[in-house]
Amino acid sequence: PIILENVTKTYQTGEVQTLALKGIDLIIEDGEFLVILGPSGSGKSTLLNVISGLDTPSSGVIRFNDQVLTDYKEEALTAFRRENLGFVFQQYNLLQNLTAYENVQMGAAIGKEPLDVEEVLEKVGLQEQMHKYPYQLSGGEQQRVSVARSIAKNPAILFCDEPTGSLDEETAKQVLAVLEQLNRSLGTTMVVITHNPGIGDMADRVIKMNSGIIENTEIHDSKKSAKEIGWG
Ligand code: ATP
Ligand code: MG
Repeated sequence: PIILENVTKTYQTGEVQTLALKGIDLIIEDGEFLVILGPSGSGKSTLLNVISGLDTPSSGVIRFNDQVLTDYKEEALTAFRRENLGFVFQQYNLLQNLTAYENVQMGAAIGKEPLDVEEVLEKVGLQEQMHKYPYQLSGGEQQRVSVARSIAKNPAILFCDEPTGSLDEETAKQVLAVLEQLNRSLGTTMVVITHNPGIGDMADRVIKMNSGIIENTEIHDSKKSAKEIGWG
């Protein structure tokens, strides 16, 4: 699991202090599908960034199993991230001069025990499109390539910050359904920020951020598959 104990984050911009996280306690279980909701400015991205080591908290402790990530030096943290964590953002960040297959191959190359590239492309529903370049793919397809690239190294945890922010409602559902299916079939822990409240039914847990705290937690003992709720 990932364990956060009393994690805070304060941004200092000139004279202005922003308390973006005000003492977060959270345990993310292995294999969990965790969704983070909340209004703009509530601290969602900040929380995801400090959990995933993209940013350092101002105080508090973050553990991954028995490793104390908040004690790590920059270099060790970078190596840890590279080995164990995957990221998907609103922007697809694909390499434009490489095909879908080659982009995913780049992701697999980083992994210690990578997944088979073709198998991953099949899992995200792109087996027919794998030799296309990004400009030949729709937004939803490009984001699925991006998901495939991140998952190909077989990370323990995949962090997604508004992965469907650039997509229309229907396409967004397809991409979220892909995340749900990968969580089921590979057991990858998913931490997903989204404005799509319907995703709650597929999640093990939904936490709602407000003004730097976890305002509300919803636990789903019997989560539904994407198919059951008619997504993907
Ligand atoms: P959104 O839904 O708009 O993406 P969010 O919930 O992800 O919002 P955060 O980006 O975590 O919100 O921001 C939380 C607070 O921290 C906001 O008040 C924001 O202005 C502030 N903040 C975020 N990043 C920085 C930064 N680099 N420097 C200063 N303040 C920041
Ligand atoms: Mg954000």
